[in-house]
Amino acid sequence: MPRLGDEELHAQLAEQYGTPLYVYDLDDIAEAKSALFSWLPEGVDVYYALKANPHPDLVRALATSQPGAPGCGAEISSTGELAAALEAGLSGADCLYTGPGKTERELDEAIRSGVRLFSTDSVTDVRRLDAVAARCGARVEALLRVNASSASATTSIRMTGTPTQFGFDSEALPQALAELRSGGLSAVDLAGLHFFPLSNCADEENLIAEFGNTLRFAAELSRSLDLPLRVLDIGGGFSVPYGVPGPRTDYPKLRAELTAALDLAVPGWRDGTPRIAFESGRYLAGGCGTLLAGVTNVKVSRGRTFVITDAGINTFGGMSGLGRLLPVAARPVAPGRTGGPTARASLVGPLCTPGDVLGREIELPALEPGDLVAIPNTGAYGPTASLLMFLGRPAPTEVAVHGGAVVSASQLVHSRSPR
Ligand SMILES: *Cc1c(COP(=O)(O)O)cnc(C)c1O
Repeated sequence: MPRLGDEELHAQLAEQYGTPLYVYDLDDIAEAKSALFSWLPEGVDVYYALKANPHPDLVRALATSQPGAPGCGAEISSTGELAAALEAGLSGADCLYTGPGKTERELDEAIRSGVRLFSTDSVTDVRRLDAVAARCGARVEALLRVNASSASATTSIRMTGTPTQFGFDSEALPQALAELRSGGLSAVDLAGLHFFPLSNCADEENLIAEFGNTLRFAAELSRSLDLPLRVLDIGGGFSVPYGVPGPRTDYPKLRAELTAALDLAVPGWRDGTPRIAFESGRYLAGGCGTLLAGVTNVKVSRGRTFVITDAGINTFGGMSGLGRLLPVAARPVAPGRTGGPTARASLVGPLCTPGDVLGREIELPALEPGDLVAIPNTGAYGPTASLLMFLGRPAPTEVAVHGGAVVSASQLVHSRSPR
């Protein structure tokens, strides 16, 4: 969220480090963390989904706990994310390892690094985890990720209810559990359930309804499957604008509603049985980031205006890669040049593909070569969700600031190495 002095700071950082440049405000990410914990019932766990942004300064800011503001664990799903979590000072025990295609090699590395909690997506997945854990001489816990057969909310990115590579279809769980139990597990404890039914839900009523359904369903499954819950992860869905201005969504009723729903569904939660966990990526990281890009050219083709910047989908491509276009907003960063009349234009990048569009026919202020533009709310699904290596362009520089001062400046580097 822009604060006083951001304009000047951004202009100065762009001058110093060049563009494209991501600026991450660590004060903002600390605010996001406090806000999220304030919306949730007291005593619950939050796992930060490193998929949103594995930058170690961000992960560290979220992991750190202060009085009244507990820290986040890490939801990871690759050895790279594991390394980022460890680099940020988390331990393997702070991590929840997820993903539908976990290999023996990555499970081995995770277990040797101390990870003990895994979300599993199939019988094969649990068996593989069991074999690797046994070989490592470790005991680990598996949550069964559930792809519920029905779903309530109508908005947002739906993650369950349809055929998917994620989780166990809920209707097939009795059979899967029978298989797992009859085969015997030597190193895995089935420790609970994991749901991730939706993402980016700005409608509080929907989110509350979804969590309520999930809790009722989890309690019912626990009873019918005779599966005691030590951990119940009911997902996330917390929302923040992406590439456009605006505040994080507030969830003022969530804490009370969730507390009541928890008391009904899993009364032991107040004593930590089960431990209740949530996950969030974008809500925690999204607001802290601003992408600064330089305008290299403005041209008109058959009556349409194209603003060409040095940041394309190789820099900010999280949605383009999914075939979706963002309604990005760019404002010029220059004292006295904010505002001004806007006109329809396409904001495009430098890549040699017509797909390199950040915003098609969007309202943009008058821009000219040499201008600096800022795209807000880009702290999540930025660099690592982009086509970083496409066309051999360098990765953007990433600068973390705290109290207006630079804490770190870095750039992901890719190079070919012999194998
Ligand atoms: C992607 C993902 C998240 C984070 O989603 P956001 O919308 O960024 O909060 C959380 N949990 C799982 C399992 C995910 O795959």
